[in-house]
Amino acid sequence: MSMSERIFNFNAGPSALPLEVLETAQAELLNFQGTGMSIMEMSHRSKEYEAVNSETEALTKELLGIPDHYRVLFLQGGASTQFAMVPLNFLSAGATADYILTGGWSEKAAEEAGKVGQVHVAASSKGTKFDRIPTLDEIVLSEAPAYVHLTSNNTLYGTAWHDFPDFGDQTVVADMSSDIMSRPVDVNKFSLIYAGAQKNLGPAGVTIVIMDPALLERANKNIPTMLQYGIHHKNDSLYNTPPVFVVYMVNLVLKWLKKNGGLTQMAAHNQAKAALIYEAIDQSQGFYKGHAKPESRSLMNITFTMPNEELETKFISEAKKLKMIGLKGHRSVGGMRASTYNAVPMEACKTLAEFMKEFQRKNG
Ligand code: PMP
Repeated sequence: MSMSERIFNFNAGPSALPLEVLETAQAELLNFQGTGMSIMEMSHRSKEYEAVNSETEALTKELLGIPDHYRVLFLQGGASTQFAMVPLNFLSAGATADYILTGGWSEKAAEEAGKVGQVHVAASSKGTKFDRIPTLDEIVLSEAPAYVHLTSNNTLYGTAWHDFPDFGDQTVVADMSSDIMSRPVDVNKFSLIYAGAQKNLGPAGVTIVIMDPALLERANKNIPTMLQYGIHHKNDSLYNTPPVFVVYMVNLVLKWLKKNGGLTQMAAHNQAKAALIYEAIDQSQGFYKGHAKPESRSLMNITFTMPNEELETKFISEAKKLKMIGLKGHRSVGGMRASTYNAVPMEACKTLAEFMKEFQRKNG
């Protein structure tokens, strides 16, 4: 397949992967590092795979500037399993965990915690259809929360935290599924970060957990083995058979990130990409209506609606003719959503922004 046959992929996840990464995987598919077999065919206890496992942890730490003593774990079950693992490990029956609700995924996370202990909603923007991130003075913590949970980027509604609050001594947990590695983050503010791989890191099938092991001192041991962070920590993510091919793909994506200047470069690139599309929205005098309040806009998921559904359907079908796919919005917001993750090239965003202006000229 030639480069020109690749489409402009605005999918929300699984989503675009860097072409270069796919090509490397293709070249190494049948014979990984001279072993005469694919990485999918070898033992997870082989020295070749163990090297991939530990290098992927090291690269994650290097790129995100993660403190040395933190661990990076590669788990399965998606971010949805983390919704349950976090409270199962760190919330006991009578205790309270604080959740900041900024979209459908944080609601789901809170729901799981509610099955284990008490949930206190520390702030919520549900009243305005999750169109913004709550301001600092809106956040009211409970008296002694087991932890505070937030979602850094809201994939469905297209909002993101631009500055993370400083919660002092509180244990802070973040779901960073849809913006991990899109920008530098001060990991010291968090005791645990989790993210499904299928947006910025690789294919679906692995969930990255970044954790301060000090947290394990208070972890509940009376839960199924596979759900204990401590077990995965002790076994270097090799307690059971890991998704070897997916971790390998994450490894390639991280090397691609590093080669392209790391997270500072990536943040600038993502900012420039998103600006093109937000500009088309802002210039449209209401033809395109952005869902997110400007100060809460996500750089990863850009959500907007149009004057009526007929136009939206036409927009999607004409965009497809220009090789742009994945633009239909999530049913909770409607309209359009352009996901502009790390691997989505500038050219895709330029093409979309130009198309938006042209479509408005013809239909506005
Ligand atoms: N959290 C966020 C912010 C997400 O965007 C998603 C998936 N789109 C999830 C959690 C759920 O992830 P998974 O499908 O890996 O369970």
